[in-house]
Amino acid sequence: MTSKEYDMTPRAETPESNGGESAPRSNFIREIIDEHNRSGRFGGRVHTRFPPEPNGYLHIGHAKSICLNFGLAQDYGGKCNLRFDDTNPIKEEQEYIDSIITDVRWLGFDWQDRLFYASDYFGQLYEWAVKLVKDGKAYVDHLSADEIREYRGTLTQPGKESPYRNRSVEENLDLFERMKNGEFPDGTCVLRAKIDMASPNLNLRDPVLYRILHAEHPRTGDAWCIYPMYDWAHGQSDSIEGITHSICTLEFEDHRPLYDWFIQNLGIYAPQQIEFARLNLTYTVLSKRKLIQLVREGYVRGWDDPRMPTISGIRRRGYTPEGIRLFADTIGVAKANSTVDLALLEYCIRQDLNKRAPRKMAVLRPLKVVLTNYPEGQVEELEAVNNPEDPDAGTRKVPFSRVLYIEQDDFMENPAPKYYRLAPGREVRLRYGYFIKCVDVIKDTQGQIVELHCTYDPETRGGTAPDGRKVKATIHWVSAAHAQEAEVRLYDNLFTVPDPGADETRPFTDFINPDSLEVLTTCRIEPSLAGAKPGERFQFERLGYFAADPDSTESRLVFNRTVTLKDEWAKIQKQQG
Ligand code: ATP
Ligand code: MG
Repeated sequence: MTSKEYDMTPRAETPESNGGESAPRSNFIREIIDEHNRSGRFGGRVHTRFPPEPNGYLHIGHAKSICLNFGLAQDYGGKCNLRFDDTNPIKEEQEYIDSIITDVRWLGFDWQDRLFYASDYFGQLYEWAVKLVKDGKAYVDHLSADEIREYRGTLTQPGKESPYRNRSVEENLDLFERMKNGEFPDGTCVLRAKIDMASPNLNLRDPVLYRILHAEHPRTGDAWCIYPMYDWAHGQSDSIEGITHSICTLEFEDHRPLYDWFIQNLGIYAPQQIEFARLNLTYTVLSKRKLIQLVREGYVRGWDDPRMPTISGIRRRGYTPEGIRLFADTIGVAKANSTVDLALLEYCIRQDLNKRAPRKMAVLRPLKVVLTNYPEGQVEELEAVNNPEDPDAGTRKVPFSRVLYIEQDDFMENPAPKYYRLAPGREVRLRYGYFIKCVDVIKDTQGQIVELHCTYDPETRGGTAPDGRKVKATIHWVSAAHAQEAEVRLYDNLFTVPDPGADETRPFTDFINPDSLEVLTTCRIEPSLAGAKPGERFQFERLGYFAADPDSTESRLVFNRTVTLKDEWAKIQKQQG
């Protein structure tokens, strides 16, 4: 604890944000939608979607996209679909589908009856591919994957046409049908669009539309052995669903001409694609591939490890949907990639928890204190405020007795300059209680401090002295006889550097913080915490916000520290002027 004063709750200032309550802040996406509404392009409709590939768990970056898509629909009185872009059966699993559904709901969004799957459109997509073949705009290619890559050329060199490019429509129709019927093994041929091997946009150099995969699909089983490429499925799925604004991340900007080509050549309804910058966060990796690696290689305890940036991880850690939505509103959307400071996310979570989390007293690293002049066997019930931010939250009783625990670091035998808490001969205030003064330090044979003897001043109940004398610190405590023992897990950043992916010559796992988890097993918590349910969140005074973990049992609670009380964000803002 660095502050000499007790109150370390963050200041109530808000960053430039609407807090999710007042009128939404304008941004370039809203401007486009407003323009469409003025021109009548979509007849005033706003229909977005969130289109995850079920090949991993959702993370905080997806949360940005979810808040954006569902948020726009809400603000414009429109609709937002949840659609699984499930075109790659090799990487997709039901477990991921289930977790995504749970996570989007938990964030507070509702797709009503509009839960869709790209796999629902496999039949339609196949027919459209046949149409392209019939129109002479697609062909079956027998080049290998490596050859296709070679023939594609580079940004500076045009591509080369495949020798199979000019097959007759009849031959292509026959081969494509036989692909579909399972006559060829994986990798023997693909269906490609016939666009332009010299296009400056590599995406237009005869992209692959279908590949052969004799693989079981989580939803369509073995009905198909050819699967559409993501690019062939994505835009048409949006078209089928009547999406007005297909919002996606910047890397799809170069794919937009291809999606437009498909839509035009099929002659179907055209949504407007709009690209925005994906979220990057300091000290965090947000690539699914890397997150899967962290889980599979055991760097974390699972997808929902509270150190993970997954929705399930930050939920377990105690982050709230409201805090995450506030974060999404605060960062807004932009056209240029940038990295957001993790401290801002923590700030938003703190802002939300500050309003809602009941205050409790807990001692993480206990030091025994005996009040030598307090009557043996006496117990007082002291009144404690549940939440100073919430007048309706009321008060509770906290038992006080002769033997207490305080935090080890709230005592220093030889106090450093500016250390104002307990020290030999010094008086401090106990939160909601009395002034106490340290009169003796008891040590074991190794010289370790094992307990303190203090006296209390019965005149100071309520925290003030009738003679007007002051103390410079207030510390928290629990009554030894009444406190419960608990486990508390403290977290630090999972990585030691702000951008763990920056150094391409080293694996990102080189930068894992070996001290990202600290488990404290002898904590003492005030008795009113008994029965806390997994997911319940509290502020432990002076220590931060904590959430009860699912590992808790009836006899022993486990808490995760969600976030400390230190407002790093304010510090960063001050530094930046
Ligand atoms: P993959 O590399 O496996 O495709 P992905 O991160 O793109 O991973 P998707 O399931 O395709 O995952 O993402 C669903 C939606 O979430 C997409 O519209 C994508 O643009 C958006 N999204 C993904 N990552 C971020 C991010 N970091 N910031 C904002 N939006 C994101
Ligand atoms: Mg993707």
